[in-house]
Amino acid sequence: MSARTVTVATTDHGDITIPEPSWCIGQHPEGAAKGDISHLGKPVGLVVHTRCHGDVQLFGARIVQFPYSTSDRKPFASVEMDAGDYIDAGDHEYDDAALQRLSARLTGFALETLPQLRAALADAAEEAGR
Ligand SMILES: [Zn+2]
Repeated sequence: MSARTVTVATTDHGDITIPEPSWCIGQHPEGAAKGDISHLGKPVGLVVHTRCHGDVQLFGARIVQFPYSTSDRKPFASVEMDAGDYIDAGDHEYDDAALQRLSARLTGFALETLPQLRAALADAAEEAGR
């Protein structure tokens, strides 16, 4: 059991104090039912540079857990595509050098960031099982 706890205001159980996993960044919106309480891990994202729109986040990921869900309470990795308000994440201009940098960013995300997320998910699953 985690040594940390957090108190969250719920619509159906009032203020409740719950264990806080080590990986949670501590954002717990109030005004939700107990079953909707979520723990959120630190977000990671793949940001690439475009000469037409500057830096664009292609997608982001984080560990998420709904510890009082009636269905699945295990931590999972949430991966979101983030195209912003009006920028089309799939249509940017690249020359050869920019393509090389994009290739390096994608490779780094695949070879470093996603394995780190997998390790963090394994740690979160182990912590949830204690
Ligand atoms: Zn939390």
